[in-house]
Amino acid sequence: MAYKFVDNYREKGARKQLVEILRERGISDAKVLRAIGKVPRHFFFDETFWNQAYKDIAFPIGDGQTISQPYTVAYQTELLHIQKGDKVLEIGTGSGYQTCVLMELGANVYTIERQENLYARTIKVLPGMGYNANFFLGDGSKGIEAHAPYAKIIVTAGAPFVPEILLKQLKIGGILVIPVGDEKSQKMITVIRVSENEYDRIELDTFRFVPLVGDQAW
Ligand code: SAM
Repeated sequence: MAYKFVDNYREKGARKQLVEILRERGISDAKVLRAIGKVPRHFFFDETFWNQAYKDIAFPIGDGQTISQPYTVAYQTELLHIQKGDKVLEIGTGSGYQTCVLMELGANVYTIERQENLYARTIKVLPGMGYNANFFLGDGSKGIEAHAPYAKIIVTAGAPFVPEILLKQLKIGGILVIPVGDEKSQKMITVIRVSENEYDRIELDTFRFVPLVGDQAW
């Protein structure tokens, strides 16, 4: 299906500038920058707001939700060290922008969203753009046991703690990236599963995400 929006020279140019802004802010992984440079972020915006699409800001996309700030998307993606063919669980599909970036890196993405209106929109928009992820509706705080284990898990909402159940769905050698804290601010946490029962945990920078709401969350 052809998508109704076009990716013209103005948007392509703005996207290149966004890549430069992210590089200056400290994103150094060339593959991640290339992926950001490929995903037409303006497709997620109403045409009236295309001039906002390549600013490094989060933006309301309707239904009380926002498309994540490109820096945050690039930051979390960089931490995942995606290899082609990696099975990745994304918790919090939202607009689907992060999903597209992961797919540009060659990930096989399983993405779950708890809000039905967002899920309904993404299952139409992403395949229309050529991004055929595996879409799920439900509470991702419990992961998706049926498709585990995952090489990587990314949580795109702020959690009060690292859900144990997600750690168990990681492959040995797998990486979980999750913001953890209170409602106002969270630290980005990476957990690497080094063996059946051993995990290495690293705490990084501070962010502010919408809350992860569910059985293993708020
Ligand atoms: N990464 C997305 C993007 O690129 O636009 C933005 C994600 S948004 C910051 C966080 C999303 O997590 C929201 O859409 C919210 O509804 C969803 N969410 C919160 N708790 C969830 C849960 N338990 N399971 C699945 N999705 C959840």
